[in-house]
Amino acid sequence: MNRHLTHILILADLEGSSACWNYRAASFLTDDWARACLGLSRDVSSVVSALFDAGVESVTIKDFHRTGYNLLTERIDSRAKIVSGFRRGPVPGIGHPGESQAVMLLGMHAASGSHGFLAHTLTSRIARLEVNGRLLAEVELFAASLAPWGIRPVFFSGCPVACEQAAAVIDNLPCFAIDKSSGQQKFDSRTWRSELAQAAVGTLSNSQTEPYRPVGPFRALVTLRNGAAEASRLARRWKFKQSGAQLEIHTKRMDQLYLALIKLCYLSPLTEKILPLALMASNLRGRLGMMWARRRLRQLGSIT
Ligand SMILES: [Zn+2]
Repeated sequence: MNRHLTHILILADLEGSSACWNYRAASFLTDDWARACLGLSRDVSSVVSALFDAGVESVTIKDFHRTGYNLLTERIDSRAKIVSGFRRGPVPGIGHPGESQAVMLLGMHAASGSHGFLAHTLTSRIARLEVNGRLLAEVELFAASLAPWGIRPVFFSGCPVACEQAAAVIDNLPCFAIDKSSGQQKFDSRTWRSELAQAAVGTLSNSQTEPYRPVGPFRALVTLRNGAAEASRLARRWKFKQSGAQLEIHTKRMDQLYLALIKLCYLSPLTEKILPLALMASNLRGRLGMMWARRRLRQLGSIT
């Protein structure tokens, strides 16, 4: 019999969760976003409860959307450890992954340049991100950054296109889709959520997947949504090769590519220098945002 996984890391994003139905809901400080945070918290909590009930010993949840503060922590099964905001390393954004054996990716979206629901890679400022001739989804970056710790992806949930992209690159990865094509009114979030949780539990005996270590070198072509002027500004800033709206990045390993993309998307030479301070400020902004969301949800009557 396969050994049952006991220490699980969950990466939680918002776009592929059950209450995010438009771009506003993925945007900071909107009513739709506050409601989406509540839905995400319920999705994550139902997975967490099901995992503990199935015998898992520890679950760490890393909030991975925008500021990293989208989870109403008081609404999530208290047996889980919740990590909000972003850490420097050793795993970008996450910090130290601790004792986790496997990662479950929830609420994910498809890659920039594809037709999934709110598709993007890292930021919507990237219109298209192609690596070695195919679109690159975040699941590859996240899974590759956890591979040095022997942590393997065992479960993925997101829109059907996101699932297709994840399954295409990670062998034997069980995926559970959220199909938003028939609209929010007809969507039964309660049933979907409980099926999501059961599907996650079903992967605890997964011995099929391996830590994700794609073979390099990698040649990334990044097309900026704002065109050549932004591309040339970023090319000068980080010494990337540029042609029109496109930047070219070469790395040997996928984790190096991830770091280069983080610089490109989120940092400036100044914030890179004062990174601990910049992270502190960003985490404070996230915490204040969550305070706003809680107050707004009470005003809207969504929570008491
Ligand atoms: Zn997101």
